[in-house]
Amino acid sequence: MNKEELKKIEEKLIEEKKLIEANLKRFESELDFGDDTDHMEEEADEIEETANFLSVKENQDKRLEQIETALERIKNGTYGICTECGGAIEKEILAVDPESLLCKKCKASKRK
Ligand SMILES: [Zn+2]
Repeated sequence: MNKEELKKIEEKLIEEKKLIEANLKRFESELDFGDDTDHMEEEADEIEETANFLSVKENQDKRLEQIETALERIKNGTYGICTECGGAIEKEILAVDPESLLCKKCKASKRK
């Protein structure tokens, strides 16, 4: 992979990271319900919404972590190298999954 390609991936990852962070912030501010919890129904709604938020947040946090790892790997020059076999990760894999730590072969064998 050449520098140009790497740079593009890095920019894409940073862009995605910003998006996720903005999303999380928005979620958190929407979760600010106020005090009118007199009605049971509303309370139930809020509980559901909170649970929803937490699962989304967990997902996004995980995603953020993967992006951080990928950015770290770009920095230290190990990006695009399979953590399992040490071979190069195919470009087609990185195109759809830029955070991937595994090459095609290792990905397939992990799925079994
Ligand atoms: Zn591999």
